[in-house]
Amino acid sequence: VIKCRAAVAWAAGKPLSIEEVEVAPPKAGEVRIKIVAAGICHTDQYVLDGLFPKVEYPVIPGHEGAGIVESIGEGVTSVKPGDKVIPLCIARCGDCSYCLNPESNICEKFHMCTPQNLLPDKTTRFTCKGKQVHHFLWVSTFAEYTVMPEYSVAKIDAAAPLEKLTVYGCGFATGYGAAVNTAKVKPGSTCAVFGLGGVGLSVVMGCKAAGASRIIAVDINKDKFAKAKEVGATDCINPRDFKKPIQEVLTEMTGHGVDYSFEVIGKTDTMVAALASCNMNTGVCVMVGQVDSGLISFDPMLLLTGRTWKGSVLGGWKARDGIPKLVSSYLEKKFNTDVLITHTLPFAKLDEGFELLRSGK
Ligand code: NAD
Ligand code: ZN
Repeated sequence: VIKCRAAVAWAAGKPLSIEEVEVAPPKAGEVRIKIVAAGICHTDQYVLDGLFPKVEYPVIPGHEGAGIVESIGEGVTSVKPGDKVIPLCIARCGDCSYCLNPESNICEKFHMCTPQNLLPDKTTRFTCKGKQVHHFLWVSTFAEYTVMPEYSVAKIDAAAPLEKLTVYGCGFATGYGAAVNTAKVKPGSTCAVFGLGGVGLSVVMGCKAAGASRIIAVDINKDKFAKAKEVGATDCINPRDFKKPIQEVLTEMTGHGVDYSFEVIGKTDTMVAALASCNMNTGVCVMVGQVDSGLISFDPMLLLTGRTWKGSVLGGWKARDGIPKLVSSYLEKKFNTDVLITHTLPFAKLDEGFELLRSGK
């Protein structure tokens, strides 16, 4: 058993508290990982607020991270102690109907199919002050050590600088993949990206890599525009600067609407606005943002004319193979994800990190 620090959410709506926890050794088919660095995604904020479906408290949140295998349980063959890894929030068991489908990137063990508050054997490896603490998505990167199923771990290049790679566990992989895998953006096309957090900026990078000729970045926080331009946006617009709805603005800017639009905020009204912003016949709208609450009502005529509305999780990557390839591309300098890292803080200041996320910094 390892004693280390972890950030525990004791209940929904309560701040995280950094505690000493015990992390039990990995059982058969499991891997214990020393987390070297973790990232904060807006989804973690939903966990703190009690808005993430089916989470059980107390829980150790965090689902972006990078680390080193510390020990392995019986039967583990794909990684060994000392390997550098990215923990994945989408499992890849390898033999369910989803895993066997070449078009699919989820698994029957995906958290929206099977709750991931306990490891597959229905027990937890975390205890704190004598109480059992739940896992989050089997990942729980806000802990110095975590235990995961082997099939949720991606082994990456030994030369990878782990402290720069947390975004490959979620934000960058999600955004970049939404453009290149889910939308399949074509060279010369026009794109609109709603929301310029870590995920939205990664969508911009994916559109650029796919050869889009015009990438219109949309955010109500104009402080996001400089970085959006740096990663490839050709135009940046703030919906608050216009009297008319943003979908009308985008339609006028492009003639008939964009070829591809992406919602990367997580609000029902911007989801519908993004759909209406792509052209009425061949336009493709990808929903990346996770809604915190509420249902959508929209005019079905928007779809009748031919538009496609798609969702995307973790950028459509079959992650155990796809993420290591993305990391190799980073090492080959095919893209620069270092620009996505705005602040680096010691673990004890995790709260400050959430404050920076909430304040849009
Ligand atoms: P973030 O909070 O860093 O960024 C959101 C951005 O949206 C901010 O820049 C904010 O100013 C902007 N925004 C808010 N309201 C707006 C509005 N009305 N119009 C225009 N812009 C607006 O969030 P993030 O970490 O980049 O995550 C974005 C979303 O993606 C979240 O909903 C998150 O849960 C979701 N997500 C989904 C997946 C997936 O696999 N589908 C993975 C990771 C994150
Ligand atoms: Zn599977």
